[in-house]
Amino acid sequence: MPIATVNPATGETVRTFDAVGPDEIERRLAAADAAFRDYRTTSFAERAGLLHRAADLLEKENEEIARTVTTEMGKPITQARAEAAKCVKAMRWYADRAEALLADEHPDPADVADSGGSRAVVRYRPLGPVLAVMPWNFPLWQVVRFAAPALMAGNVGLLKHASNVPQTALHLDGLFRRAGFPEGCFQTLLVGSAEVEKIVRDPRVRAATLTGSEPAGRAVAAAAGDEIKHTVLELGGSDPYVVMPSADLDRAAEVAVTARNQNAGQSCIAAKRFIVHTDVYDAFAERFTAGVRALRVGDPMDESTDVGPLSSERGRADLEELVDDAVSRGAQVLCGGRRPDGPGWFYEPTVLAGITPDMRVHREETFGPVATLYRAGDLEEAVAIANDTSFGLSSNVWTADEAEVERFARDLEAGGVYVNGMTASHPAFPFGGVKRSGYGRELSGHGIREFCNITTVWHG
Ligand code: NDP
Repeated sequence: MPIATVNPATGETVRTFDAVGPDEIERRLAAADAAFRDYRTTSFAERAGLLHRAADLLEKENEEIARTVTTEMGKPITQARAEAAKCVKAMRWYADRAEALLADEHPDPADVADSGGSRAVVRYRPLGPVLAVMPWNFPLWQVVRFAAPALMAGNVGLLKHASNVPQTALHLDGLFRRAGFPEGCFQTLLVGSAEVEKIVRDPRVRAATLTGSEPAGRAVAAAAGDEIKHTVLELGGSDPYVVMPSADLDRAAEVAVTARNQNAGQSCIAAKRFIVHTDVYDAFAERFTAGVRALRVGDPMDESTDVGPLSSERGRADLEELVDDAVSRGAQVLCGGRRPDGPGWFYEPTVLAGITPDMRVHREETFGPVATLYRAGDLEEAVAIANDTSFGLSSNVWTADEAEVERFARDLEAGGVYVNGMTASHPAFPFGGVKRSGYGRELSGHGIREFCNITTVWHG
């Protein structure tokens, strides 16, 4: 994949970049290694000062970076601004809380005595340079939710961003530098995915995190595993959105429209499979389809656009194949189901019903504005359909019945259960999945501790 900004709304190549060569990669790995030696000894207060400065800068640059994001990957400008603002919030959250999240732990004195010791403390120390392989769909947020906790923990970061968002990647590189982080603390490596394995294997790189597709995750985790290095993987999702008879149907349908179509549906935690109790199926389907039909598809720079283009021609072609496969096997198209005429990689927001297990949409992730509707006879069947997937990222349930909430919270195979609302990440809550959606957690105290050397200091 060439490293280039190609505007998805027009298909026009705006700017191309040369990948950095082996000498430059070596220089940057050495810089990361050298930076870590000093940076690891800085205080939380020093790191927090730097991260607050980065947050303030990003807040000031909101409009500029939002326009770059929209130009590179096509999300509506209003959503790009919101993404940048969310990054500012996460930076401040970690700047203010990292010290408490990584405070020393003191084991029970009785256990210390039992071990024959006089004192013991568990300390969270940084690991070293961490490689982050990141995707284009939330090109700021995916990076910041790695970088903010990593830098606060005393690690340094190396970013290999997706090849279609190089200007966003370079902006982030500059942001941390301008905020005053020492040279080498956060660096963008403009390289293609073929270079990643060598970087993962380099002894100076201590761990890796990847958000993206299953093949990419497998490749990075395989190399890291071979080198005995820790990884966090945040891969695809096909989140269920279950609607039970006691739900507020108007609200459930309204939120469903956003949960599926935000970011043109290109989100790992987007609700993708809508599993509706038979008693309210028709009423929900009607409201939901009307809401999807009303979405404004168009120029992502236009303030009133709800759904922009898909990020790439390949992404649209993949989505079309999934829809065509479902339709050829008997799925009904309640709305959309085609690409509009004209330039750009747009696709009409689509609702499909009559989904059967032989259809690819039943098993694969639809990374675009395509919703699938399922009818469930009761809670057991809803749970069975929800879990009938290789993914397990998050889930959504709509019900006013607390006993049902408990059942879903116990039985849904996912890293999140969001009740009467849509899944959205927040710095305070752990984020990640089970099954083929990956492992490890980002955000919260769990996220910052992923890349720490959890050290027992014991005194005899
Ligand atoms: P990829 O997984 O291919 O890209 C994500 C990142 O991984 C990019 O930086 C990419 O670099 C890199 N990468 C790709 N292949 C390898 C590899 N073999 N070794 C190391 N790094 C690699 O996602 P795509 O953009 O191709 O999207 C394909 C599908 O992935 C989507 O349809 C969706 O299902 C899923 N996806 C999930 C995301 C999520 O948020 N969980 C985000 C994006 C995609 P480069 O760009 O240079 O190829």
